[in-house]
Formats: sequence, C-alpha cells, structure tokens
Amino acid sequence: MRVDVLGVGFDNLTMEEALDRGMELLHSPGAHYVATPNPEIVEICRENLAARQAVNGASLVLADGIGIIKGARILGTPLKARAPGIEFAAGLMARMAEKGLSLYLLGAKPGVAEAAGEKLTAKYPGLRIAGTRDGYFQEDGPVIEAIRESEADCVFVCLGAPKQELWMARHGEATGAHLLCGLGGSLDVFAGVVERAPKFWSDRGLEWFYRLCKDPRRAGRMMKLPLFLVHVWREKGRR
Ligand code: UDP
Repeated sequence: MRVDVLGVGFDNLTMEEALDRGMELLHSPGAHYVATPNPEIVEICRENLAARQAVNGASLVLADGIGIIKGARILGTPLKARAPGIEFAAGLMARMAEKGLSLYLLGAKPGVAEAAGEKLTAKYPGLRIAGTRDGYFQEDGPVIEAIRESEADCVFVCLGAPKQELWMARHGEATGAHLLCGLGGSLDVFAGVVERAPKFWSDRGLEWFYRLCKDPRRAGRMMKLPLFLVHVWREKGRR
C-alpha cells in the first residue's frame, strides 16, 4: 500500500529496499519506471492530471526530499526514509556494474550525458554505457529507436518533471529497456556541471536552501515548497 501525499502515492521503502526492488524490476519482463517526486513535483501533480497519472503509474515512487518526509509525517502516515533520486541512481549503478548490465543516459544539454557517461564508467567498473543523447530533441521516434538499438537494460531519463514522467509512461515499453528512471538534473551532477549540496546541508534537510543560494533563479520554482506545506496542513485538517 502506498502512502498518499496530496494525491501522489509513495512507496514506503528504505533505500536498500528500493534498490532491491529496482533490481527485481530490471530482471522482470516488460518495461517499468521509477519516479522520484519532490514537493515541487507533487504541486505540479495537483494541478496537472496527466502528470499525476504518469507519476502514480510508476512501478516505484520514491520520496526524493525531506519535504515529502515532513509532509507524510504531518499527515500522520510517516514514510520510513527518504530516497533521493540521485542516491538511488548511484546505488543502482553499483549493483548493475556487478552484473555487467548496460545503461543509456538520456537528457541534459548537449555533451553533458556523454561527459557523465565517461565519469560513470570510471567510477563503476563493469557498468556498460549503452549510449547517450541530449534532452533537447524535437522528435521522439529517433530517440526511442536509438535506445532500442543500444539494447540498454536501463535508461536514466533526465528531462525535468513532469516531462520525464510523461515520456517514460508513454514510450518506456517501446525502448525495449526493462527499467527507466526519471532523475531530473542528475546527469548535470554526474558530469560535474552542477555540484550537489555538501553533506552538512543535506543532513539538515537544507539542500533546497543551498541550491537556492547557488542559483537564485530557482526562487520562483521554490515558492512551491511553502505552498506544498500549506496544502499538507489543509489536507490534515480535512482528514
Ligand atoms: N532538460 C532536458 N530537456 C528539456 C528540459 C530540461 O534535458 O527539454 C534537462 C535540463 O538540462 C536539466 C534537467 O532536465 O539537466 C532538469 O533539471 P532540474 O534541475 O530542473 O531537475 P531537478 O533535479 O530539480 O528535478
């Protein structure tokens, strides 16, 4: 049973459990996808039905940030742990490397996925990068075909939300991969283009603040955070 936070159902798993499940899905027939919503994405889902259906249609829905953990706790249905997308991706790649599985990197600006691929191959010996492609394409067909031809086991789809969730829901099956993971700006971090918040900040649930200081243009998007908490308190009153 999923934990409902404002219409988005989260799987109540520790990181280890999420990784076990991810590996199971990688070895199951058909295509499966993972979504890692943060409060901003939950707010998008409140207003956009197609986005909500795409996120809830994922085989694995992980709580990306501290905001979701706080929201679930306020609603009286706490989640075991947060499972940030980028850490889930790192854990998954370590396990995939042990099994010699292959990964396709889709998304970010031209050159970023390629640079990320080089760094990841060095970091996870055994992991095979089946292909890379930037996220600014006009037609889906050639991208789907390229992934299909690469015979990748897994695809990291990093197009930002809700574009990546809609893309995975619609085209996941056609790519031939068993697992697709929607991971926002992760390729920028893997490539070293964007820095992740130091542990000091993330341990205190202040990664969002660090990102805001580094890139004040995010301020508009971050207004969704307080709005999310207002909606959570309203929902608690309603329940
Ligand atoms: N992006 C893309 N295609 C698009 C729009 C965005 O590949 O049409 C990429 C963008 O370059 C960035 C990522 O998607 O690498 C979204 O990053 P953001 O910081 O918004 O994601 P977050 O991690 O905050 O969810």
